[in-house]
Amino acid sequence: VTTFHCERAWLGGETAPADVAIEVAGDRITSVMAGVPAPPGSVVLSGVTIPGLANAHSHAFHRALRGRTQRGRGSFWTWREEMYAVARRLDPDSYRALARAVFGEMVLAGITVVGEFHYLHHGPGGVPYSDPNAMGQALVDAAREAGVRLTLLDTCYLHGGIGTPPDATQARFADPGAGAWAERVSALRDAPAVRVGAAVHSVRAVDPASMLVVGEWAAGRGAPLHAHVSEQPAENAACLDRHGRTPTGLLADSGLLGPRFVAVHATHVDAADITRLGESGSTCCLCPTTERDLADGVGPAAALRAAGARLALGSDSQAVIDLFEEARAVELDERLVTGVRGEHGPADLMADATASGYRALGWPDGGRIEPGALADLTSVSLDSVRLAGTRADDAVTSLVFAANATDVHHVVVGGEVFVRDGRHVRLDVVRELSRVLAP
Ligand SMILES: [Zn+2]
Repeated sequence: VTTFHCERAWLGGETAPADVAIEVAGDRITSVMAGVPAPPGSVVLSGVTIPGLANAHSHAFHRALRGRTQRGRGSFWTWREEMYAVARRLDPDSYRALARAVFGEMVLAGITVVGEFHYLHHGPGGVPYSDPNAMGQALVDAAREAGVRLTLLDTCYLHGGIGTPPDATQARFADPGAGAWAERVSALRDAPAVRVGAAVHSVRAVDPASMLVVGEWAAGRGAPLHAHVSEQPAENAACLDRHGRTPTGLLADSGLLGPRFVAVHATHVDAADITRLGESGSTCCLCPTTERDLADGVGPAAALRAAGARLALGSDSQAVIDLFEEARAVELDERLVTGVRGEHGPADLMADATASGYRALGWPDGGRIEPGALADLTSVSLDSVRLAGTRADDAVTSLVFAANATDVHHVVVGGEVFVRDGRHVRLDVVRELSRVLAP
């Protein structure tokens, strides 16, 4: 049994009470008490402790594009060509090394669970590795070494676009059919800090009959099911042209929407889509720093929330890895579109970044500081120039609207300390990133 003593801790709502003792046995919180002096032998967590942050949508290898895709004009589609060039270079060893460094960056940023939307499955030309899950296993190993909890969202990818076969690069993403996808993924197993989930890459890459197979696989296991949805107007147009329905409409008619379903982006959804996503209890995972980077647009976050959809957050393309920036962008980007302030309150945004993301990744008992919850904790220092002078009553608001990833100084995953005073206790993350990105 370990007792963590938090200078302040966010237990929900708009305030963060002082002197919170969190008792942990194994990987679970067993008791939480506010207003008690630090017990002897406790592990002190200074600053404001919040539940660990959930990164609900990640492609770890996109980190190799940071800083290299900002020259010249272009669009999502020209960016995608640069992303494909990175994908062509990776094998299981280099994928593991890159992912370990990136997951290390995430842990340093206070991220304690990541949903890795994994579609780079096969070798050059689409030839399977001797272990057909070698690339997925590389991610599992990388996450374990970096100390982050992982939901491996193994992604079904069959077509290069609606009605077109995969091209030479996309062949590495593609299984021969949905049945072959299900057979391959069924060989992956849950482990103590690893959960296997499913993903439909998009309506571009998976046809309706194949969606049914993926949906049944996920339903049979009670596993999370994610899909990229309406990131681009061109995707909507192609889907309407071929299927007479929006991407959300098509996914709904295939029975995929529901409490285990996560629509990633949901940027260009219409009123009927918003109603479907809300009424079904689906989650929408917004990735604002990627959406702004790729000139995708701003999604209707307030309307989705009002309709009943849950919101989660993802670093997606790793343009930056900073869940505080994602959280405030939900509110701030929408202000620019609507001219209205305050649609999303700080407590809602904090819940999006924690409990909502955990739930979206199949860990409904995480993202909260309460007895029985997973002992995943992130402490944010108030000693930076950004946060110095924060008043106790404003701590939650200041974290959401002014903190950044470098303010995170302690991180606990499953009761184990992985970041102490801003340093990863196992990995030299800066050195690893340098080695894999600029060897
Ligand atoms: Zn994505």
